Amino acid sequence: MIVSLVIPCYNEERNTEAFYNRCQEVFSKKYINMDIEYIFVNDGSIDKTYEKIREVYINNKDEKIIGINFSRNFGKEAAMLAGLRKACGDYVTVIDADLQQDPKYVLEMVNFLELNKNYDAVACYQDVRKESKLLVACKSMFYASINKISDIHFERNASDFRTFRKYVVDSIVELKEYYRFSKGIFSWIGYNTYYMPYNVQDRNAGTSSWNFKKLFLYAIDGFISFTTAPLKIATYIGLIAALVSIIYMIVVIIQKLVIGISISGYATIVCLILFIGGIQMILLGIIGEYLARTYIETKQRPIYIVKDVIQYEKDN
Ligand code: UDP
Ligand code: MG
Repeated sequence: MIVSLVIPCYNEERNTEAFYNRCQEVFSKKYINMDIEYIFVNDGSIDKTYEKIREVYINNKDEKIIGINFSRNFGKEAAMLAGLRKACGDYVTVIDADLQQDPKYVLEMVNFLELNKNYDAVACYQDVRKESKLLVACKSMFYASINKISDIHFERNASDFRTFRKYVVDSIVELKEYYRFSKGIFSWIGYNTYYMPYNVQDRNAGTSSWNFKKLFLYAIDGFISFTTAPLKIATYIGLIAALVSIIYMIVVIIQKLVIGISISGYATIVCLILFIGGIQMILLGIIGEYLARTYIETKQRPIYIVKDVIQYEKDN
């Protein structure tokens, strides 16, 4: 049985070898009957990550090691796709290079799939989140709102640390969209996924490439990729505004003609103009976000560009 590990790497020079060594420890052939295929994807690192991958490859010529080198940084989603396209294992796992996700869970996921033929994939989720309260609250708000308005279900806290059967990978790579929000893609393709708790470790070395702003933009990508509900907001607000203005118009006519009150209200007019103007701008912005993505998608640019590949010799 072959298990492919897809390992996106961005500035992981201090982790690549440590990751490989930890895998050797976990997948030591003495104990298990698994052949591991390592697919390191160097996502345009500005440090020596690719040199490190090459070193691992050269020092372990009898192992199944592949190194894919991107021409620049295309993001983790692109790196995952490149790895998934290359993988030829019976099971394929996506795992980070920084040892936050211990390879021992790969064994657990594969064993689970071996024993439970009715499941097609296993996704790990963090049992206890080691994150700030603010971030946890924001993530929880994201899941609550996207699950409310989107047709597909997003499992709370599920990570990209997943193991798929081969045919599930085939379905994932069939989705050709440029903006890849993988949590959505994994749900969209369907299949029976088992959610397994795991303990996330501290980063082995280096720093996370995610910050609050990047996460916020990523969340917006999620909304725009998997629901068009925000586009309907304009319709609803327009309907409500029209209704309120008709009622107000009737009130004003009655006040003027029947009761004879003269209508003044400079402040009211200014507030209303600013309020309605603001809402219109926000809605235009939302439409713009969808339009911009449609524009990029229509260009059909490749999702990543590969500069070079190092690869073990395959039998076929
Ligand atoms: N990564 C990548 N391209 C990027 C950013 C990150 O391939 O542009 C990789 C990174 O090397 C790591 C994984 O994606 O293996 C997760 O990234 P990170 O550890 O920075 O995220 P966190 O664990 O903090 O969510
Ligand atoms: Mg990490």
